[in-house]
Amino acid sequence: MSSIANASLPDALGHFGPYGGRFVPETLMHPLQELEAEYFRARQDAGFQRELSYYLREFCGRPTPLYFAERLTRELGGAKIYLKREDLLHTGAHKINNAIGQALVARRMGKSRVIAETGAGQHGVATATVAAMFGLKCVIYMGAVDCERQALNVYRMKMLGAEVMPVHAGQKTLKEAINEAMRDWVTNVRTTHYILGTAYGAHPYPVMVRNFQRVIGDEARRQILEKEERLPDLLVACVGGGSNAIGLFYPFLEDAGVKMVGVEAGGLGIRPEQHAARFQGGSLGVLQGTRSYILQDENGQIQLTHSVSAGLDYAAVGPEHAWLRDQNRVEYTYAKDDAALEAFMKLGRLEGIIPALESAHAVAEVIERAPGMNKDSLIVVNLSGRGDKDVAQVVDKVGLQMPK
Ligand SMILES: *Cc1c(COP(=O)(O)O)cnc(C)c1O
Repeated sequence: MSSIANASLPDALGHFGPYGGRFVPETLMHPLQELEAEYFRARQDAGFQRELSYYLREFCGRPTPLYFAERLTRELGGAKIYLKREDLLHTGAHKINNAIGQALVARRMGKSRVIAETGAGQHGVATATVAAMFGLKCVIYMGAVDCERQALNVYRMKMLGAEVMPVHAGQKTLKEAINEAMRDWVTNVRTTHYILGTAYGAHPYPVMVRNFQRVIGDEARRQILEKEERLPDLLVACVGGGSNAIGLFYPFLEDAGVKMVGVEAGGLGIRPEQHAARFQGGSLGVLQGTRSYILQDENGQIQLTHSVSAGLDYAAVGPEHAWLRDQNRVEYTYAKDDAALEAFMKLGRLEGIIPALESAHAVAEVIERAPGMNKDSLIVVNLSGRGDKDVAQVVDKVGLQMPK
């Protein structure tokens, strides 16, 4: 493995080895090129970087703590477990790191309107929030099924002044919402920036989103060195499109001693249409602008997916993850719905922290691994978000009752 090659990707055309690139209709080529040019200009601009760190600190609440989970560590009896507390960020998840960054790019480009897709609603809320803060018009596309599952987030977006457009096509979830957002972008590109919410899609989105999320790993690296005077042995993060995971992993890619595990949604088990673990049942294909691992049938039809967590419930995974897996730099596994639910309850009761169901997948993997590791080894797990949005769903699943 050439670690240098890993950290220096993508190439100029957005390729991570055979993955990534730009597979879009002609009408989107020019907007993507414009976005790419402006983003890379902004990246080199000290003024832009200053402004970005200002808002991350003053508005979002960075840096987030790297918190030693003492009781969870004791209960599992192995490695020392640290939680990277992205759940403490404004709006409740890591999504705002990227939404702030892209809103600043949109402003530089003179765009007065932003649009976004959302699954569980976390990215929609983050986008609606930064749009309100910067005075931008905002439209959020959300599958009609997701609108019902995540009604609280729909109301939050509306309170923030965003227009929420339910999408009734197909499975009525995230994939269809992305299609609608792309259609809107093609039509309104002169005034509009599309704030894509994960490390996915056509170049430059995967690299841009990764670079806005790497603040997670940059902080975690500094924090663990302060606390333990050495690097961790293992990083663990859940993988939907892959933005919180690549954000944590990226700054450690060249540290050969740091192992990394990405955890996908195993749903009800690895059978067609019952999970969203792209590296288990998936194959190479093109979906929504990029080439990556995709859950599809023999004819290239996108398969239905299932996960208890809407944020991991998507048929494709970010291209950089496909590359890191080929390089054996990151290992990918999955946690099933029931393991995630158990981890959700356990973290609440042992640590006083209710995680997002997405993050609970990463915690489930830590519960598996920590007991088999030395007591002096170190795990950093990314707590990508908090669980308030999932409370009603978990109450249903685990059968909590109102006291009589
Ligand atoms: C959206 C979301 C995810 C999944 O998205 P990634 O891009 O894979 O990080 C994970 N956790 C939370 C809390 C989310 O809101």
